[in-house]
Amino acid sequence: MTTGYAEQRRLMVERQLKSRGIADVRVLAAMLRIPREEFFPAGRGAAYADEPAPIGHGQTISQPYITALMAESLELTAGDTVLEVGAGCGYHAAVLGALAGCVIAIELIPELAEMARRNLERTGCGGNVTVVRGDGAAGYLERAPYDAISVEAAAEEIPRRLAGQLKPDGGRMVIPVGPPGEQELLLIQNRAEGQTTRRLACCRFVPLR
Ligand code: SAH
Repeated sequence: MTTGYAEQRRLMVERQLKSRGIADVRVLAAMLRIPREEFFPAGRGAAYADEPAPIGHGQTISQPYITALMAESLELTAGDTVLEVGAGCGYHAAVLGALAGCVIAIELIPELAEMARRNLERTGCGGNVTVVRGDGAAGYLERAPYDAISVEAAAEEIPRRLAGQLKPDGGRMVIPVGPPGEQELLLIQNRAEGQTTRRLACCRFVPLR
């Protein structure tokens, strides 16, 4: 007998998130509710595995723990406007949408942008998420400045144009930085006193193009 998706989600939250220190109740509730299996183009069986998974076009969706860690680090509130770079299948955008006021999700590959849009619509998770086809390394000036930016592909260094679209006081960005095998997930925060950078974890992302 296979375990139902709701039960798999509950186990994911307990064993992969809470046990590793994810404590933000809003993040935990969002990931308990959003049907991750609905975002998987092939083989829903892998939807709750504790590892990254392929989403087509050579891209991968992050391990659930990394999605949770990134979302938690941004300390989102219902009034926040968020830019997501690398929408992929749309799952992470759905999590951000549950936590923030509105999300602009940019995706470079047209087929993935279309898939994200469809997945968000079908699951009813996309009410406050706008998927845009484009190059997110340049950010998205039309809706800047942002309270938060979530970058889901690894950069060689922090793209200046992206950082420049954060609110000068209070804006924060989570971004994987570094070459393959040496990537670190960084949290950058703009404060009245200046900018701080904190290292959150080692990580493994596809490259930002
Ligand atoms: N978080 C996503 C998966 C991200 S995988 C999810 O939940 O599924 C990284 C994504 O970033 C890929 O879809 C890739 O096409 C996209 N990407 C890479 N470089 C990009 C760029 N410059 N602008 C926008 N998207 C980019």
